[in-house]
Formats: sequence, structure tokens, C-alpha cells
Amino acid sequence: MTFRARHLLGIEQLAPGDIRAILDLAEDYVALNRRPVKRTDALAGLTLISMFFEPSTRTQASFELAGKRLGADVMAMAVAQSSVRKGETLIDTALTLNAMRPDLLVVRHPASGAVHLLASKVDCAVVNAGDGRHEHPTQALLDALTIRRAKGRLHRLTVAICGDIAHSRVARSNILLLSKMESRVRLVGPPTLLPAGARDWGCEVTTDMAEGLRGADVVMMLRLQRERMDGAFIPSEREYYHRYGLDAEKLALAAPDAIVMHPGPMNRGVEIDGTLADDINRSVIQDQVEMGVAVRMAALDLLARNLRAGPRVVAAHA
Ligand code: ASP
Repeated sequence: MTFRARHLLGIEQLAPGDIRAILDLAEDYVALNRRPVKRTDALAGLTLISMFFEPSTRTQASFELAGKRLGADVMAMAVAQSSVRKGETLIDTALTLNAMRPDLLVVRHPASGAVHLLASKVDCAVVNAGDGRHEHPTQALLDALTIRRAKGRLHRLTVAICGDIAHSRVARSNILLLSKMESRVRLVGPPTLLPAGARDWGCEVTTDMAEGLRGADVVMMLRLQRERMDGAFIPSEREYYHRYGLDAEKLALAAPDAIVMHPGPMNRGVEIDGTLADDINRSVIQDQVEMGVAVRMAALDLLARNLRAGPRVVAAHA
């Protein structure tokens, strides 16, 4: 086990060995989660608080389940409905929580960088559950576990990430992880949804879906992140689906055994055909959800071990 970080803020701070350590431990938790009794005491006596300043279904549920299955005391702060905003209020909230002496804090926030800022103010371990369009490290890790289980490896794969790249923290974390693990990433989307400078990220970039999908081993579809859009980025959803929506015909251009992924929430008929999303021979979307719980258990377990190890934990990963 090489993962020695105090926080899990992004894939950027992780070395390939850290990624492997999390995924290897997650395999044990996949097995545990398939047993009738899904319980260990790795986090017994520890307190986990989750704070989601943006809506979430899968991520929040799976972090809470992960904490509970590891025996932690888990509390969800109901912040999404309140008018809490970035800045002083976020810091105040963090300091208030810090005074309650939690051990692990799981945070989602609409502002890129907000979770890093918070981590610098508290004594506990902080996990980034998605910050703006910046990073969503546990999503990339669960995607990696899903890919590794389906393909047997994480290197020398061609992964097409398609759709709204510009606003997607899922894309950013996946690009970082897959590049670190020596796979080839292709970014595919309309020019308006490809970030300026994407060509400098070491990925292939194309606006042509056929070109992007050709021979891909993994096809990862992304949701249009309307909540992060300021103005019109696509002519219409119908036109977008026609050009960039994944259906069986377009998927036929990818490798014959290509898998289809989507982080959810999914907009059927916008970025993906509903029947294809449900096709268990091609789609691993439900596996992603299952792997999400296991990966989050592994990440929380390793962070808790590092907490117990105290100051020996490498500060560079903080
Ligand atoms: N659930 C993912 C996220 O939080 C993807 C999405 O919202 O489209 O970034």
C-alpha cells in the first residue's frame, strides 16, 4: 500500500502506485459488498460528515453507505437547500464543523478549488466529492475500477470521452487518471464544449464523433452540464443527439468489445440512447454505481489509516 495522503482532493496529486493501492483495496470491498453481511470495523469510532453544496444522488448515497459499512458514525449536513455560498460562509461552516472534531469530511461544492481551501482550514481528512468543473477523484477511481475489471488492465487502452468536456470535472479527473496509467484519451465534442487548450492536455481532440469513436475500447458519455452553462452552447438537444448522442449505429465504429460508460445522471435521448444504456452486454453503467461504493470504502479506509499514522503522512499530498 503506497497511498500516504492526508486528503483526497484530486487525481492530480496521486501517483500511479496510489491509484493501484486504492483500486486493489476496493476489490476486497467489492467482495464484501456482495456478501449478505456487509460490515467491517475499519472506521469504528470515527466520525464522517458529508456536506453537499450541490445536488447529488449516487455520490452522496455511496459515500454514506461506504462510511456506514466501515462502521463510522455518519452524518449528512443538509446544506444543499440552504443559502450557504462560497467565501466566508464556507470557511465559517468548515470551522464550525471542525470544532465538532470529525475525522473525515466529504465535500461537494460548485466552486472549483473550494474543497482545497476548506482542507487547509480543518484538522480532519477531506475528500473532494466534486468541486465545480475541476475534479471528481472518486468518480475517476470508480471508473478506473470498472474499466480494469472489464478490460483486465488500465494501460494501452483507447478511451473516448464524449460530450460536454468543458464543464465536466468527471472528464478532467478521468483524463488525469487514464494518462497516468498510460492509456490514450480522445476527447470528442462540439467545438463549443471542448475547452480551450484541450490539445495541450496530451489527449487527441476531435469534433467528429465517428473519428473519435473509431476503434475505442471504452466510450464514456457525459451529461450536458447546463447548470454550469452561461448561454447557449448547442443549437438544440435534437441536433446534439443526432451528432453526438451515442446509439448502436455510432457504437459500431468502436472496438467490437467496447464498453459504454456514463457517470450519471443520464439524459436518455440527449447524450445516449436509452436502450443502449440498458444493454447489459455493452453498458457498464450499473457496474460503475456498484464500484462507486467499493472505491469510496477503500479511499475512506486508507485515509483513516493515514490519520492514525499521524504526522508521518506525506504533506506533499495534503
Ligand atoms: N455526477 C457527475 C458529477 O457530479 C456527473 C454529472 O453530474 O453529470 O460531476
